[in-house]
Amino acid sequence: MARLGRLLVLDRRHLRHLRRPVHLLTVPTPHDILAHVFGYNAFRGEQQAIVEHVTAGGDALVLMPTGGGKSLCYQIPALARDGFGVVISPLIALMQDQVGALREVGLRAHAINSAQNGGARRAAEQAMRSGDIDLLYIAPERLFAEGFLELLEECRISLFAIDEAHCVSQWGHDFRPEYLRLSVLAQRFRGVPRIAVTATADRATRRDILERLDLDAARVFVASFDRPNIQYRIGPKIAERRQLKDFLAEQERGATGIVYCLSRSRTETTAEWLREQGFDAMPYHAGLDPDVRSRALERFVRDDGVIVVATIAFGLGINRPDVRFVAHLDLPKSLEAYYQETGRAGRDGEPSVVWMVYGAEDIAKIRGFIESSEASDEQKRVERRKLDALLGFCETADCRRQVLLRYFGEERLEPCGNCDRCLSPVESFDGTTDAQKLLSAIYRTGQRFGAGHVVDVLRGKDSDKIRRFGHDKLSVFGVGAERDDIQWRSVIRQLSAMGLVATDFEAYGALTLGPEVREVLRGERRVLLTREPSRKERRRVAAPGRAARKAEVAEADQPLFEALRQWRRGLAAARGVPPYVICHDATLREIASRRPRSLAELADIPGIGDMKLAQYGEALTQVVREDG
Ligand code: ADP
Ligand code: ZN
Repeated sequence: MARLGRLLVLDRRHLRHLRRPVHLLTVPTPHDILAHVFGYNAFRGEQQAIVEHVTAGGDALVLMPTGGGKSLCYQIPALARDGFGVVISPLIALMQDQVGALREVGLRAHAINSAQNGGARRAAEQAMRSGDIDLLYIAPERLFAEGFLELLEECRISLFAIDEAHCVSQWGHDFRPEYLRLSVLAQRFRGVPRIAVTATADRATRRDILERLDLDAARVFVASFDRPNIQYRIGPKIAERRQLKDFLAEQERGATGIVYCLSRSRTETTAEWLREQGFDAMPYHAGLDPDVRSRALERFVRDDGVIVVATIAFGLGINRPDVRFVAHLDLPKSLEAYYQETGRAGRDGEPSVVWMVYGAEDIAKIRGFIESSEASDEQKRVERRKLDALLGFCETADCRRQVLLRYFGEERLEPCGNCDRCLSPVESFDGTTDAQKLLSAIYRTGQRFGAGHVVDVLRGKDSDKIRRFGHDKLSVFGVGAERDDIQWRSVIRQLSAMGLVATDFEAYGALTLGPEVREVLRGERRVLLTREPSRKERRRVAAPGRAARKAEVAEADQPLFEALRQWRRGLAAARGVPPYVICHDATLREIASRRPRSLAELADIPGIGDMKLAQYGEALTQVVREDG
């Protein structure tokens, strides 16, 4: 409370401009803190219940997706209670950003981790001793460094927050042995509430967290894992570069994003090609020179309009909250991986798009990886199942979000309205005849030819190759003339997803028949397909585009938005912090559209708390006035 008093008193000069009443002498409620410190006027979803429970001294386990707003769940109770909050976090870059952002809102935040110098650690410890601190972020191994717990025992602690709590579980990929020791907090700090938070939701992990952190009395809060601000789009791979370019061209000016590829060399060639096309693209993979890699990372964090073309090595520790798009040029390994990789978009809750193209070869490639790996049969079975779930998602005619959430155990009744299937529905039809034609063509040509040739045969094309092999004499020649090449490739892809068609890479990508084709050829098994628009239709109907995305900057507000970004960039550079630590895009976008000219008007913008109003109010309203 004294803290908040200090903060508000510090800014008293500006307080008379505020429309919101300020109660200097009363204990701030969580809502006061939300409004005055963070500048937001309402809690989101479960936040309020969590904040109230922890502020009252209860333990909690919070499962919430990325971007759900986990940090406020412990930051606000830490401020509302007496003493300072201790946040245990294994991700150093994230920790630094959080501390930076908290200082921006006027809080006394410190970090203790292995990346800092002794001076910063001593300053933190000094602040702990004098009580001149609101939040302490600490890496787990530092918490257990000699003498540190003893120091903590002499302090007044408002709560312990255990971030990335799934690190305590051996099931996941992020297991950290030091996390197992965190149960000691329950014994040594009786009466101090503990809140564990994570974006990993499966049951085994949840059980592990509760058990191993001694949180049996904790209330468990499970939020939906839906990421409503993310638009899902998946299409057939026809000409990947042109498609990628079209997709990128559709994005808002200055949008930053990630393009994922499977191989290192593909990230390099794709990035180079994008640069030739005028995009600010950089490759990123584990094999790059460390200097090159850290420069790419730095630019990605700092600059607008940057595209990183990366293998999945790029991801961990990426905290940029305003990644606006994630594109996949290759299939991810599983739906879990897809959710994780696409989840890096829109952590700030703003509209974002994720986009993927894939074809039959991609399916075949992944099947090949699985079959040729050294894994046990059991492991292979698991991987095949995961691939099937992924392909089911890719090929569905239903709302993608419904399918995705169902995979994670959440039933969603209504279609989402923000995926390609909702925005431009596809028809399903009985494609048994098409399947029979295709399978016969593969069979009659001896399972020795790739997709291009098989499609030519089906369409009855007159080519040298066809005449040379006498394929114009086959009964299947020309039986599929009513569909164009894109549509036949779609049938090939869908049958590949079902395992009815395979690709033999040893034989130059020849299409071969899967084990269960006989039933289809005999008409004993029906095949349901989704209808692919032909080339002609494709030109007529526009892509789903940005239909369901709302938070764009209007054309007329673009110059102001740019000017505000420019202002933020300058300030961030001067401070040596990433721009998003100063404030988020959403805040600048609101300013650009509402054009506040006074501090009182500015105070109503989400994300502008008392401290930002005091520090930047003049500068921001100045930028607005200059725009006229
Ligand atoms: P997580 O840690 O769950 O990934 P964060 O705590 O970083 O998510 O929050 C994600 C974004 O949502 C941040 O930009 C944060 O400022 C914003 N946010 C969180 N809670 C609210 C709220 N109640 N009102 C407005 N914005 C919020
Ligand atoms: Zn949908």
